[in-house]
Formats: sequence, structure tokens, C-alpha cells
Amino acid sequence: MRSKIVAGNWKMNKTRSEAKQLITEIIDGLKNVPGDKTKAIVAVPFPFLSDAFLLTEKISAISVAAQNCSSQESGAYTGEVSAAMLASTGVEYVIIGHSERRLYFDETSTELTQKIKAALKNNLIPIFCIGENLEQRNFGKQNEIVKAQMQDALSSFSKEDISKCIIAYEPVWAIGTGVTATLVQAQEMHLFIRNCLAEITDTKISSSIQILYGGSCNAENAKELFSCPDVDGGLIGGASLRADTFLSIINTANSLH
Ligand code: PEP
Repeated sequence: MRSKIVAGNWKMNKTRSEAKQLITEIIDGLKNVPGDKTKAIVAVPFPFLSDAFLLTEKISAISVAAQNCSSQESGAYTGEVSAAMLASTGVEYVIIGHSERRLYFDETSTELTQKIKAALKNNLIPIFCIGENLEQRNFGKQNEIVKAQMQDALSSFSKEDISKCIIAYEPVWAIGTGVTATLVQAQEMHLFIRNCLAEITDTKISSSIQILYGGSCNAENAKELFSCPDVDGGLIGGASLRADTFLSIINTANSLH
């Protein structure tokens, strides 16, 4: 059975002291969360990665992610942060292809493939984000879009490499809008994603890959969403910025194991 993951995507929020405080509150709260099957992940901004790692390194229930990495290995790329640099801070995961990066920073599938390659080369686990926008959903093109996003970015990888990835289905129309995918929409898409993964790997691998839901997931709707058979937890934006709501979502995930 796949275990659940609750990953908080902090985006460009918090100062260093606020970040340390929030992580400390989450760690304290985790002591009161019954069960330890859920992996909590905090995807913090680059400057706080080392602090986050040092605070969490002895606690197996929580790990640290970066929100992006460079597609390049090293060199004259001012402002970029390589996967090797991330790995050297102790980070275990990296979000790749978030819709905000695709939209505001024009990240293409070719670039995302390079980023995934760089992450895997440095033993980082990619949390690869896919999802359609509202117009695409309104035209009924969501499956086509999501399949193309996966095929374009992942098809050049070996089955073994794909098996190391986590997928986050994040319908763009649900991110930060307060509108959540219905349970039917979420389950249908997660199953579709799993079937697409089976086509580029095999059913054994596709049934073991964790697929997270992201998009206005919060303490109120997490239980229903995470109860869908192919939803293996969540990538949480807004609701991960407070310890009480984030812990409540982790608690929910634990109760479902
Ligand atoms: C996200 O940006 O990954 C996200 C899911 O945001 P929110 O939970 O705020 O919709």
C-alpha cells in the first residue's frame, strides 16, 4: 500500500525567523500526531533550506524540499541554484514544474526534463507537477494536457528513474482560488495519471508511484480528497503556512493509513 505524503509549498513566503518558528511549531505538533505513516515535507525558499534541514534532520516524519532547481549542472548561470547545491544542504525532495514556474518563468517540458535529470543525478526525489488550466478544463482537454505534460517531460527516462518520482496533480484553476477539484474530478484524474504512468513504465511501478493532489486543499477538505483511492496525499500551498492547519492535514492523512 502506498503511504501518504503531505507536502507544504511555502512559495515566496516567510522571513528566516518566521520560517524557523513555523518549522519548530510543526515539529512540536508532530509529537501529538498519532501514527507515523505519513511523510510531511516542507518546501521552503532557498535561503532557509539549511535551517530547515538542521531543524528536521533527526525527525524521520518530516523532510525538506526545495521549490525548484536549475536545469544546469554548474557554471555561469547567475541566480540559479543547482541540484548538487540543494543535495549538499541535506534536502531530499525538489518540486519541479509547478504551474507558477511554467507560467511566470516560461519553463518548458524540455527544461523540466533537464531539471528532473539533474535532481535524480543528485539523488533528489522530484515532485513533478502537472495540471490543466481552466480554459483547458472547460474545453474538456484536461486528460490530453496532463498526458502530454507527462509524456513530454518523462518519456526519455528509464522506468527505474520514473519510479523514483512523485507526481503532483495540480489543476491550475484550483491553486490559490479556494475552488477544489470535486472528489470525482480528483479521483478520475489521478487514476488517469496512474494509467498514463503504466504506459510509460509498467503496472507494478505505476501502482507504487505516489500521486498528490494540490489546489486549495485544506484542513476541511483533506479527509475526503485523501480518501480517494488514487490520491496519496497533498501538495498544500496556503494551508501549509500555519502550523495548526498543516498539522491538521497531516493528522488527517495519518488517520487514513
Ligand atoms: C500550490 O501552489 O502548490 C497549491 C496547491 O496552492 P494552494 O494550496 O494555496 O491552492
